[in-house]
Amino acid sequence: MRLSEIIYELSPIFLQNFFCSLEGGKIYRRRFSENFFNIFETIKERDRLPKEELETLKVKRMRKQLILAYENSAYYKKLFNRHMFDPYGFESFESLRSLPILHKEQLQENIEPFLNHEIAPIESVTIHTSGTTGAGLIFPVTKACENEQWALWWRYRTNLGIMFDTWCANFGGKVIVPIKQTKPPFHRIIKPFRQVSFSMYHLGPKTVKEYVNTINKKRLEWIHGFPSTLSYLASLMLEQKLSFDHPISWVTIGAESLLPHQKEIIKKAFGIYPKQHYGLSEPVANISECEYGSLHVDEDFAHIEFIPLDDESNQYRIVGTSFANDALLFLRYCTNDIVTLPKEPKRCPCGRAGRVVEEIEGRRYDSIVQKDGSKIMILGHIFRDMVHIREVQIRQDASGFVTFFIVRSKDYTSEDEELLRSEIEMRFRIDYAIEYVEKIEKTDRGKLRLVISELA
Ligand SMILES: [Zn+2]
Repeated sequence: MRLSEIIYELSPIFLQNFFCSLEGGKIYRRRFSENFFNIFETIKERDRLPKEELETLKVKRMRKQLILAYENSAYYKKLFNRHMFDPYGFESFESLRSLPILHKEQLQENIEPFLNHEIAPIESVTIHTSGTTGAGLIFPVTKACENEQWALWWRYRTNLGIMFDTWCANFGGKVIVPIKQTKPPFHRIIKPFRQVSFSMYHLGPKTVKEYVNTINKKRLEWIHGFPSTLSYLASLMLEQKLSFDHPISWVTIGAESLLPHQKEIIKKAFGIYPKQHYGLSEPVANISECEYGSLHVDEDFAHIEFIPLDDESNQYRIVGTSFANDALLFLRYCTNDIVTLPKEPKRCPCGRAGRVVEEIEGRRYDSIVQKDGSKIMILGHIFRDMVHIREVQIRQDASGFVTFFIVRSKDYTSEDEELLRSEIEMRFRIDYAIEYVEKIEKTDRGKLRLVISELA
């Protein structure tokens, strides 16, 4: 545990709220800079571009990225030369197919040659991600790219009617309430973001009423969070016949894909269907649900290729290329996320020009049962920063006990194990074991399941 985390834990709640707002303020100022609002204007205009204009924009943005990569990164210079690929003459996305698909493992192994060394450190920020398989990646994005990504996410939100000053009940993966705390409140206030941030780690049959009361008392109309957490909240509410005393106007989800049963449970308890959105820290793909409920590829932000999983199904793997990140070109980057496409290309009444996706199968997380019988989800989150873990799987055979199976990379040391143990103990009320293995069995679709539970 870091010193700042220990100080936070020991502080009284009003001070914790103060720290949250202080930290939030720093992030807020970076995220919503003047540049953000400039990009936001542009990106709003791009939302309704006619097909040809959109295509022209895509080619232009792509060419710029390819040239940057060729001129400033050792890896791409070599790669383009070897494949006789001409970035200056780039005209069509078909030609990208002559280049290999980039896998996360390559970046984990050695990210150095991929970087654009012309970007000064002050122009970029460092992103930490956990990803589907639980293996972490640390990489730079430019501040402009970060702004664009947030502008894109706010385009989706404002399209749904959410405003910049709408207060939000947020259920994220951060440990915002110390895990040892057993009494309410189970939320903290992050003023700059107008966020009431709830602890997913304290949510259970005994505490759910407190959560609902807080949302009622503060009349929060927008609920945002991991679908697994929101559907857990919803199912607890249904079980205990709890409800909100005011209409909820928006439920938005992030980080995981939404499963059909989660969607229905949320509708039943909250009175409204959640809106979906697919994006990831690596700025290589984005899909947003529109006012009419269609899932649109945000074509102006990144180039998505749908690579078929097999000959029969309509399922495709998302391979994406970023248009926005000058610090590191993710060229044909394999996300390991899967979508279902409609049998015939679909048009949406909203009139947007890009491609429409039927369903985001994406990243699916499961839950484990803790010692007190409560369920806890989104386990991938704890592995962010752990770049020396190659693969991980969590198996639960008994309530309150799980085994972490870990495939180590060559740089894994006892410090990594210590970090892992402290992350586990900070978040979960479980007994556990760590076992190191050579490899982890994949599903027949080649996906690594993060959680395998033998419990009913
Ligand atoms: Zn639409």
